Amino acid sequence: MIPVVYSGTCVEIVNDYDALDAHAQDHKYWSDEKVSPVRKQIKDHYIAQQKRLCCYCRKEYPTNHNGVWDGEHVISKALAPKFMFEPRNLSASCKDCNGVKLDKEVRVNPALKKFPDESAHYTIVHPHFDEYGHHLKWLDDVVIPVTGKGIALIAMCNLIRFGNAAIGADTTPSTPEYERQVGKLVKLNSTEDEYDMALASIETHLKKVVGSSSES
Ligand SMILES: [Zn+2]
Repeated sequence: MIPVVYSGTCVEIVNDYDALDAHAQDHKYWSDEKVSPVRKQIKDHYIAQQKRLCCYCRKEYPTNHNGVWDGEHVISKALAPKFMFEPRNLSASCKDCNGVKLDKEVRVNPALKKFPDESAHYTIVHPHFDEYGHHLKWLDDVVIPVTGKGIALIAMCNLIRFGNAAIGADTTPSTPEYERQVGKLVKLNSTEDEYDMALASIETHLKKVVGSSSES
């Protein structure tokens, strides 16, 4: 994905913010009326780059209407206001994915001062540094994790909601065991056993979803 290159009045707005001392950089500035042209430039750019597919669920939202999309900060702007306008920290997501992901940590090492610019620096599939298809597959509405990053993204954005909605089930995973196992994966440094247990738990859940949808 090609990162956004700011142009016109946006250059000045972004440069002014980036020049501030770290303590003066406030993530709430994102919502300021002054930032509106930057938000629009970011959304327009990534909606086009992503061919109107959400960066996390890869579902198509066939509209360029900015109101349908969120300008997404992969590393939450609340956790790291200094990366608020970093082009490689930005993408376009659907409201549902962003609404579940919120301000959860995605960095392997949040103490790192410079912008984490490699795949290995992230616990989830990254819109800029990872090849989505290497980590997750979709069978219609059922998501299949291929790697640990795939599992972490499923958990972080509740990507199981599509499969659940297709069978009319609750849109959140129904078993506490599932929640418990998958929850562990989102934490850093999961052990191999924890990873295996989480994967088994997800597989069991997916079989249930696939089984129910083939009955209907
Ligand atoms: Zn989405």
